Amino acid sequence: MVHFVGAGPGAPDLITVRGQRLLEAADVILYAGSLVNPEVLEGRKPSCRIYDTARMTLEEVLEVIRKAEEEGGQTVRLHTGDPCLYGAIREQMDALEREGIDFDMCPGVSAFGGAAAALNLEYTLPGISQSVIITRMAGRTPVPEREKLSSLASHQTSMVLFLSTGLLRDVERELQEGGYPGDTPAAIVYKATWKEEKKVLCTVDTLAGTAEEMGVKNTALILIGRVLAPEGYERSRLYDPGFTTGFRKGTEV
Ligand code: SAH
Repeated sequence: MVHFVGAGPGAPDLITVRGQRLLEAADVILYAGSLVNPEVLEGRKPSCRIYDTARMTLEEVLEVIRKAEEEGGQTVRLHTGDPCLYGAIREQMDALEREGIDFDMCPGVSAFGGAAAALNLEYTLPGISQSVIITRMAGRTPVPEREKLSSLASHQTSMVLFLSTGLLRDVERELQEGGYPGDTPAAIVYKATWKEEKKVLCTVDTLAGTAEEMGVKNTALILIGRVLAPEGYERSRLYDPGFTTGFRKGTEV
């Protein structure tokens, strides 16, 4: 049996309880060493074999899994954050399905949650933004034309960019072409929840320069939107004394 597990954004205590239990029971762990904090692996069994997949191909990963299956062991495939985002898990799961190998998935705290926590941020403030766009700048991995950053930018919602720190001049241009004013609040969060975490608030038109000053080239998220410097947001209806919900009767005020 193979378990795809989210390791969380970095801090080793941000893996889920279920994920931790699966790690402790694993006979083989394959982890993405470029981004997963190795401290997360500390609870493994002494007999557990570990593989850093940063230098492996999909074929090599599958070969390790096949062998573990033949031995009747439990395999954990550990991905950074939550495996459901930019995890390249579909191709692995399809290959396992073809070979009749059972698998399941255990979610994790994605970096976009880690980065919000680093900034004490709520992405969805009534009256400002009720949506979050998670995307990336097109780079060596293309992005479908209809999802071009400039067209998503027309909504001016809260936005989180993964995998884009090396392309911030293009990001600045596309965001402004699409509709965000240059002075829209933005932030760069490097290694959210790690000991080395760095976070800087800036604006859409200063993203590239800010990353340069921070000396940050990768493992960072770019956050965009007025929720980063909120002014004039509305109170939630849910906790408004005058608002009746399924759990609480509103009172006249
Ligand atoms: N599945 C992961 C994302 C993997 S893609 C998740 O849910 O978080 C890898 C990209 O995620 C990195 O290039 C970087 O943009 C971002 N990232 C991962 N961990 C991060 C962290 N701790 N802080 C900031 N960005 C991070």
